[in-house]
Amino acid sequence: MIGEGLLTGMKVTLGHWFGKKVTFCYPEEKITMTERFRGGHLAMDYKKCIGCQLCAMACPNKAITLKSVQDAVKRRHITSYIHDVGRCLYCNLCVEACATKALYWDKEYACSSWNREDMYHQVLTDDDMKFLDTAMEQSKVLAVEKAKKAAELIAKKKAEEAEKAKAQAQNEAQKPAAASEKPADKPKEKPIENHDGEAKPVD
Ligand code: SF4
Ligand code: SF4
Repeated sequence: MIGEGLLTGMKVTLGHWFGKKVTFCYPEEKITMTERFRGGHLAMDYKKCIGCQLCAMACPNKAITLKSVQDAVKRRHITSYIHDVGRCLYCNLCVEACATKALYWDKEYACSSWNREDMYHQVLTDDDMKFLDTAMEQSKVLAVEKAKKAAELIAKKKAEEAEKAKAQAQNEAQKPAAASEKPADKPKEKPIENHDGEAKPVD
């Protein structure tokens, strides 16, 4: 039949035209990556991070460089966390090594760059830095309170020990006086009288 091929082709075209959309207009439109997608930049929940550096130690390609600081109550905080995207193998070892589950992927797959410098990604945000400042200030207050409590505890302990020593000294002083006292004379036993009123000797 003449035109049969054209009709078959149009059928396929119209099927796609009205069917489910399978493409998108990148870069205006971006798809949401799946839960298990591993890629983009490293991201961090700063409040969970304890500055242990396990993530950097677990990285086989030395793609993580971090700096940390200790606060007044000896807690560690990260001050800088650089993820070198150019060196990253996306092996996920850093995320798995994190003891507090603070690390995750931002899934931003469009992270190509023209120069290498742009591939050094600072993971910490301005909000994280504000949190750090607050945490440092709070730690100073906590340290003062802690020192005060420790001093009170030492003073209390010393007072208890002094009280104990005083009581012991008093006991020691009373002991010789009690030892020098004469034992009281044994009361004489009254003779038992028999029925006739005569005194019966005590056995
Ligand atoms: S994914 Fe692998 S290579 Fe990349 S930063 Fe983490 S540990 Fe290093
Ligand atoms: S392993 Fe986790 S908790 Fe430790 S420094 Fe890295 S991100 Fe922070």
